[in-house]
Amino acid sequence: MLEPMTDALTAALAARLPEGVLREITPAYLEEPRSKYPGRDAVLALPGSTEEVAEIVRFAAAHRVGLLPRGGGTGLVGGQVMPDKAPKPILVSLERMRAVRDIHAAENAMVVEAGCVLADVQAAAEQAGRLFPLSLGSEGSARMGGLLSTNAGGVNVLRYGNTRDLVLGIEAVLPDGQVFNGLRRLRKDNTGYDLRHLLIGAEGTLGIITAAALRLYPRPPETGAAVLVVESPDAALRLLNLAQQIAGPGLSAFELISGQGLAFQREMGMDTRQPFEEVPNWAVLIDLGLPQGEAPQEMLEQIFAAGFEEELVSDGVVAQNEAQRQDFWLMREGIPEANRLVGAVASHDISLPLSLVPAFIDTAGVALAELGLRINCFGHLGDGNLHYNVFPPQGEARDAHLHLAAKATRIVHDLVMAHDGSFSAEHGVGRAKVGDLERYGDPAKLWAMRAIKGALDPLGIMNPGAVLRPSC
Ligand SMILES: Cc1cc2nc3c(=O)[nH]c(=O)nc-3n(C[C@H](O)[C@H](O)[C@H](O)COP(=O)(O)OP(=O)(O)OC[C@H]3O[C@@H](n4cnc5c(N)ncnc54)[C@H](O)[C@@H]3O)c2cc1C
Repeated sequence: MLEPMTDALTAALAARLPEGVLREITPAYLEEPRSKYPGRDAVLALPGSTEEVAEIVRFAAAHRVGLLPRGGGTGLVGGQVMPDKAPKPILVSLERMRAVRDIHAAENAMVVEAGCVLADVQAAAEQAGRLFPLSLGSEGSARMGGLLSTNAGGVNVLRYGNTRDLVLGIEAVLPDGQVFNGLRRLRKDNTGYDLRHLLIGAEGTLGIITAAALRLYPRPPETGAAVLVVESPDAALRLLNLAQQIAGPGLSAFELISGQGLAFQREMGMDTRQPFEEVPNWAVLIDLGLPQGEAPQEMLEQIFAAGFEEELVSDGVVAQNEAQRQDFWLMREGIPEANRLVGAVASHDISLPLSLVPAFIDTAGVALAELGLRINCFGHLGDGNLHYNVFPPQGEARDAHLHLAAKATRIVHDLVMAHDGSFSAEHGVGRAKVGDLERYGDPAKLWAMRAIKGALDPLGIMNPGAVLRPSC
């Protein structure tokens, strides 16, 4: 059993840390973007160094107090908030640890602290003439520690991989307070179990990440984008194959957009500069990054023409300049905001084998029809990752339909598993999907996960209740 942080324990911890590390907590630290999980009160710690993090962890281990690591607080599965019944924990926010420790441009590598905001990491890489390709709607707030801990995906996974693929080394504090100095910039290092990959995606349940060595890339000098109207998800998938044949590794993103998402933007009065007068049923956003001297606009026209010829594409716009490309992305990134404003009854972050995406969308649409909800299905089609969210009928309040949420989720997740997919593609398990992991997870994998958790964190102090249910 964990113990709560009392006033006496707070005073004892404060005495072991430099002044100002423990602060008065404000409501923002106890919130998450979907307002589904009100966080319980906690003692707020803002360490300024890895050694201070280690001191806090050693203290928590000595007193059996829960630790809740926090980055930008943008996680969508409630991993960054502790439920009401939990004993009062220490919330460790890495926000003061935001130094770019080193940039090794010639090596295509940089070393950053876990509190760095993603947009700042991207900007630092750009200043060095390099690209850090991780990109997602929350990049202005999400911090490297959170991104690593959730193995975030985003829009460029098709080309550059998930966060996991962008990490060379990790520095972290383990649950007993030891510092794991894995901050290496090696591209080959087969020296036993790879602790880096265990900590990435662990959602703060195996330690606190304090810094990372990241992989950089050359910046593609020629970029372009197009939005093409497609008849169906099946047509979108076939167009993806055409685009891959034509653009090869130059294809950076291939996003599926449903008409419902664009209609929501209009319904909510959002000016996202949609390029079509009439809302299409389905569209795709294609983004290219090409080597010097190649012409993205011409290549996109070629994809458009090939798609048109095969009757996959009926209309489309190729961006004529960078501003128009940015407008297309504004429209794509406006979808989660429109969803938030409309208010989802239930949201699902799923992935499927690519060839089964159209069958899933068809089957799920039929299975959910009896609930009378609106569906906004969009996402990173190039990765088989869909955000499959359901909403109340137009003009009706979300609250009146919330009783359908569990049923909708069960239908969606059962169908995902029947199509050999995943109920959590990129957001993680957090507290929202602990039950799903128990229901759908591979038993051998669950056994190994519990064994690893028990071995590294025998007291269960690291983000208790996230990913795995506490064993006692
Ligand atoms: C508008 C919007 C768009 C989004 N788009 C995407 C998207 O395209 N792709 C995607 O994958 N996600 C997306 N997300 C989800 C979210 O941004 C990511 O999950 C992100 O990685 C969370 O980072 P964070 O710093 O906000 O972490 P937090 O929310 O603070 O924490 C997330 C988890 O990581 C743990 N954690 C945080 N810091 C550390 C640390 N230093 N050490 C150990 N554990 C830690 C927390 O305890 C928690 O379990 C989106 C969210 C929003 C609001």
